[in-house]
Amino acid sequence: MASRRPFLSKSRLISAWQCLKRVHLEKSHPELGEISAQTESLWATGHHVGEISQRLYGTPASVEITFDKRIGLLLNKTRELIEGGADFPIFEATFRYEGVLVRVDVLMPDAGGWRIIEIKASTSVKEYHVLDCAIQDWVLRHSGINVTRVSLAHINNRFVYPGNGDYDGLLIEHDVTDEVRTLEPEVVDLVGRARDAVTGPRPDVNVGVHCSSPYDCQFIRHCWPTDTEYPVSGLGGSKAKLAEYVALGYRDICDVPAESITAETQQRIHRVTCRAQPEILEGARLALEALPYPRYYLDFETIAPAVPFWAGTRPYSPLAIQWSCHIEETPGHYRHREFLDLSGDPPMRALTLDLIECLGDQGPVLMWTRYEEGILNNLIELYPDLTAPLSKITDRLYDLHPVVKQNYYHPKMLGSWSIKAVMPTINPDMDYGKLEGISEGTAASDGFIEAIQPGILPERETELEEQLRRYCRFDTEAMVEIVRFFTH
Ligand code: SF4
Repeated sequence: MASRRPFLSKSRLISAWQCLKRVHLEKSHPELGEISAQTESLWATGHHVGEISQRLYGTPASVEITFDKRIGLLLNKTRELIEGGADFPIFEATFRYEGVLVRVDVLMPDAGGWRIIEIKASTSVKEYHVLDCAIQDWVLRHSGINVTRVSLAHINNRFVYPGNGDYDGLLIEHDVTDEVRTLEPEVVDLVGRARDAVTGPRPDVNVGVHCSSPYDCQFIRHCWPTDTEYPVSGLGGSKAKLAEYVALGYRDICDVPAESITAETQQRIHRVTCRAQPEILEGARLALEALPYPRYYLDFETIAPAVPFWAGTRPYSPLAIQWSCHIEETPGHYRHREFLDLSGDPPMRALTLDLIECLGDQGPVLMWTRYEEGILNNLIELYPDLTAPLSKITDRLYDLHPVVKQNYYHPKMLGSWSIKAVMPTINPDMDYGKLEGISEGTAASDGFIEAIQPGILPERETELEEQLRRYCRFDTEAMVEIVRFFTH
């Protein structure tokens, strides 16, 4: 009987908790899913945090059950260790009960039994983390393991890395044993529902808020309407409201009756889209023409690793690693400056000094959203001795985003005023999608981290360097184009 039960991993159960249709599609039609670069980056972060946790919890005797497709081998190895009287931490200990397979991040000997420690790369405990622990607790206890406690360890975002590989304090532990034990009925129910969803017909589930919570589902493009020029999701705003429209059968923005839209931004998107003409108001020209010269168009690229690798830095704290600046000395006359250092040494101080010199002491510093302001404030925190020149720069910042948002909308922007959405509507040749390799921020961050690894092949480093420079420069070229568009 046991062999006929569908195999359910812990991650499949969490998928089922998010949406039964998702778990069905993962099993039956994985080819319909699209894994985003952001999701892949999150997985890589999880693996890295897992590696560090093995260093933190490990002892000279600890053992890892390394992955093998032959699950039976993993189960046997785990059983042999435990029945052999192991008194050391076991990483990725593997258990199966009722067809549910779990691999425990850290299994610690504890008071005659074992403590489960689940490692998360997040900075707080989430509801589904506790459910994740409850699934493990249920499987282990029914496999005959005396589970004494269940702990959840996540990243401590106040940790400051002292250097030399010392990550003591990177993780914060919470004892979730009591919460976990109250969830047992929920786990049993979830296992049953997930099993039915996997073996039965495709569950009839409407799209909704759950499509992006707690994770972006890989089937969004399959389930949400995409077979029309202006899909209803392009109205933006409340996901719940959008899902209602989809449930009512509306696929295109223009299918939605105008009177059913109450939010001002959505009314505007609907009006402009159905009119099929971009909206360009005078306000942008008036505001941008008033800007004095020289004008500086600035963009930073950043990294925010969960596991900091430069001394003095904190987990997930955005660190500037690159900038691009187009300088318009007089109307229509530009030069370009940039900073990128792939030596692997912390580049932030040299980057800051170069930036201060590049930006001089007068003229507006144009940016897209207030992100650059946050980065400059981070640099002030890192280098208090540079507070005065950096504060003068923040005083000169000019955010293009609200000017464009108030005065421009093109149906092809599909409800977004990101620079990536605006730019191709102004100049179709300047489409981020056409950039080779690195074409968005997560890829830039991952590309930088890959490029500074000591063993990287020179050809790969050169390729990444070109892509990083091209991408960051593209952002400031885009701002130049946008200002030109509104003022010519
Ligand atoms: S996109 Fe939404 S409805 Fe479709 S499978 Fe994913 S979570 Fe379920």
